[in-house]
Amino acid sequence: MQGVYRCRFCEKILNHTFADLGTSPLSNAYLTEADLSQGEIFYPLKAEVCSSCLLVQLPKFVAPESIFSDYLYFSSYSDSWLAHSKRYVEMMLARFKLKSSHTVIEIASNDGYLLQYFKAAGIPVLGVEPATNVAAVAVKEKGIPTRNVFFGVETAKEMHAEGIRADVLLANNVLAHVPDLNDFVGGMKIILAEQGVLTIEFPHLLKLMNENQFDTIYHEHFSYFSLYTLCKVFAHHGLTIFDVEEIPVHGGSLRIFVKHQQDQAKPVMDRVQDILAKEKAEGLQDVQTYNEFSKKTQKIKYDLLQFLLKAKQEGKMVAGYGAPAKGNTLLNYCGLHGDLLAFTVDRSPHKQNHYLPGSRIPIFHPDHIKKAKPDYVLILPWNLKDEIVEQMAYIKEWGGQFLVAVPSVQVVQ
Ligand SMILES: [Zn+2]
Repeated sequence: MQGVYRCRFCEKILNHTFADLGTSPLSNAYLTEADLSQGEIFYPLKAEVCSSCLLVQLPKFVAPESIFSDYLYFSSYSDSWLAHSKRYVEMMLARFKLKSSHTVIEIASNDGYLLQYFKAAGIPVLGVEPATNVAAVAVKEKGIPTRNVFFGVETAKEMHAEGIRADVLLANNVLAHVPDLNDFVGGMKIILAEQGVLTIEFPHLLKLMNENQFDTIYHEHFSYFSLYTLCKVFAHHGLTIFDVEEIPVHGGSLRIFVKHQQDQAKPVMDRVQDILAKEKAEGLQDVQTYNEFSKKTQKIKYDLLQFLLKAKQEGKMVAGYGAPAKGNTLLNYCGLHGDLLAFTVDRSPHKQNHYLPGSRIPIFHPDHIKKAKPDYVLILPWNLKDEIVEQMAYIKEWGGQFLVAVPSVQVVQ
């Protein structure tokens, strides 16, 4: 018998499936050679949509402890990510006229990659980062004061009692990972200064649905947000979304600007209504639209299997590029193993000479592609497609071609 699960936000019983991706191990549980003689724990990977608030979410079948104990925190960011962060800081400094009397607080501040730019501009900063080793790097190497705690109402109350308030509070790409959404947003309400601004970046559910990015669903991502649902979440906590920007990171994200409901100084911009209208036009305010999504994920599965079986019958070799979490969702959903996808490669030395969880496909150094000369290279991190096609252009020398599975299965022209 299936258990009864309740919505992470409004607590209604969940009974609408958004995407049933079968079962898979945690997406960051990469295996060593020695692990291959052991079993793996497979958890259901089934996203539901709440028929009341339309929050897309994973029901609470996996204990967060088992997720975070294995969670890899990346302390080094790509140049493009740093540039994105720097532009954000420059925009915030100019738009909200920040001064040395203000305080900027970032939740999930990592190694201080973003706060360093506020610090350089003379604005006092404070990071909140649950990973001990990463928080230590922020303090020692970047001189960013960082509290090594999980954020929620309890932490916020402690900070508030110490007189800490955020004139700018930010949380990027963390909301999806928060197991207790109301506790997290409730905490932000507490430490946001009366006239403060909260900004949050998150992948936009509209993009996920329109571009079939179902592989961004994995156990570490508990929630998937539309602006519609987030407006409800913030309103519930006495907060108002007063502006929103579409930004081209992580396959298409939103950056929202939030204030206290009582704060009259910041008008609500038209862009909020514009994006809500866009979501409505695409059916995001109707549960039926969410019920239809499974058909799109199934089509990708059947198309990819068909492509790989045909390649196999023709004696062609298909290899992968990259070992991102999203790749594991795709490969385990499709039930793939080394017979149809010989190997994959990744630039991270932490992943090389390991095996993908579930599919147990080996991960090599990118140079392995030159040796093996596969006929097709399936790009697993499709968000980096252009960059990878350029870097690996040499596969043309032996007639190799690139393949992607999202938004649809196709050979890259
Ligand atoms: Zn709900």
